[in-house]
Amino acid sequence: MSDKSSIKRLLSKAEQLVERGVDKRIRIAVTGLSGAGKTAFITSFMNQLLHIVDNDQLPFLRAAKEGRILATKVSSYDELHIPEFKYKQSLDAIFGAQPKWPASTTGVSQAQLDIRYTIKNEWLQKLQKHSHLTIDIIDYPGEWLLDLPLLRLSFKDWSMQCRELLEQSGDVLESSWREQSAQMIYQKPLPDEEVAEVSSAYKSFIKQHFSQQQTYNLLQPGRFILPGELSGAPVLDFFPVLDIDILSSDWSSLSEESLIRTLEKRFNYYKKQIVEPFFKEYFEKVDRQILLVDCLEVLNNGYQNYRNMQFTLSELLKSFHYGHSNWLKRMFSPSIDKLLIAATKADHVPPEQHRDLESFLQKMLQDSRNDIQYEGIELETLAISAIKVTEAVMAEHQGQKLMCVKGVELSSGEEIINYPGKLSSQALSKDAWQEQQYDFVDFAIPGNLTSSILPHIRMDKVLQFLIGDKFR
Ligand code: GDP
Repeated sequence: MSDKSSIKRLLSKAEQLVERGVDKRIRIAVTGLSGAGKTAFITSFMNQLLHIVDNDQLPFLRAAKEGRILATKVSSYDELHIPEFKYKQSLDAIFGAQPKWPASTTGVSQAQLDIRYTIKNEWLQKLQKHSHLTIDIIDYPGEWLLDLPLLRLSFKDWSMQCRELLEQSGDVLESSWREQSAQMIYQKPLPDEEVAEVSSAYKSFIKQHFSQQQTYNLLQPGRFILPGELSGAPVLDFFPVLDIDILSSDWSSLSEESLIRTLEKRFNYYKKQIVEPFFKEYFEKVDRQILLVDCLEVLNNGYQNYRNMQFTLSELLKSFHYGHSNWLKRMFSPSIDKLLIAATKADHVPPEQHRDLESFLQKMLQDSRNDIQYEGIELETLAISAIKVTEAVMAEHQGQKLMCVKGVELSSGEEIINYPGKLSSQALSKDAWQEQQYDFVDFAIPGNLTSSILPHIRMDKVLQFLIGDKFR
């Protein structure tokens, strides 16, 4: 081989190495409880970046402002077992002849974007002018995060906990599950179809309990609410035992086929085969996390809902208190370095009150905030709208000229001007809550979206926080 060709080969090898060193990959997970706005968020996130070249809506994304982001495309990812996020279907819904909101998240999905950009660092630039950033975006239901505490509970512990929670909540629900489970003979086998039937009654019971009490503390296991691809699988056919005599007895001598041992086996299987791999896959590999919160729903529903959401958020955020949970660190070695918690649907709120919406979110997060910062995770809170479907207008409300929002009401299809109420930037006492009246209404996607770039509020700040530092 000639000297020339070996030098050429060496140079190309060196270039490849540099390229690999400079190229970056980042995994961002998006979560939030049902209806928080995950699908709308990911659709807008992708849409803003895929239109980067002619997108003048991103002044806070520094690399875009500097004209260094050259192109973005959707690329295919390696994790072939994860369904693809339905970006195209979401856009078809939004821009269709009869525009509608895209279908909400029901399980895990993923998308991958590949961004080509000009390197800023002058030393690296000498070696290579352009580089690539690969972004994996993973969408998963927040309800599944609530399963984390289950990993440390036995079936007996979990049953005991459910029993206590039901007692505390002064449960008054008539339910076929309670009747059926009271008649079970746990020491004897029960045919699989009957176990499935009672489990299905339990799932209806917890959903009903949630809709009446708006409390998430009984909404476990998370897959019972949103089963994803496990819908109908026998691993989801179990339920807690409330009978205190059974709970205080020793089961070890009972036959493997007895109902109680069957329920215990399924619970353990669920933990080992579903919950643990889920946290391993989506949590351990995640670099940055965004948690979306629908504060408007909370504001509309009053004090108790506020307290419930506060509790639920603190439960969700326990996943990020590594220091407090050594077991968590041992099990998963989480690697999240940035966490963004965003109040969604800010376009329901007049712009002058966006700061108050953010303060409201911060108040709800309370102590969890300090704990997370203590872990060394960079935390940001923002009030955002992934897809802005209203505009701010001055209008008269109860004899006063006030900043309101105008848009097409989802339920009536009529254009309305809405004043949702004045958000308080202070934490409200229980009594002060009684005096507050909020009137947030749902808005539809308007039929007159002229640009293929989705209008938004602060998605550029979101992008800067989540990926801005990668364009060096
Ligand atoms: P998911 O269950 O977390 O996937 O929630 P979605 O993204 O499906 O959002 C639920 C609903 O919230 C949507 O159908 C919309 O009605 C509303 N929504 C979500 N994002 C926005 C937003 O940015 N602005 C407005 N006005 N509504 C939104």
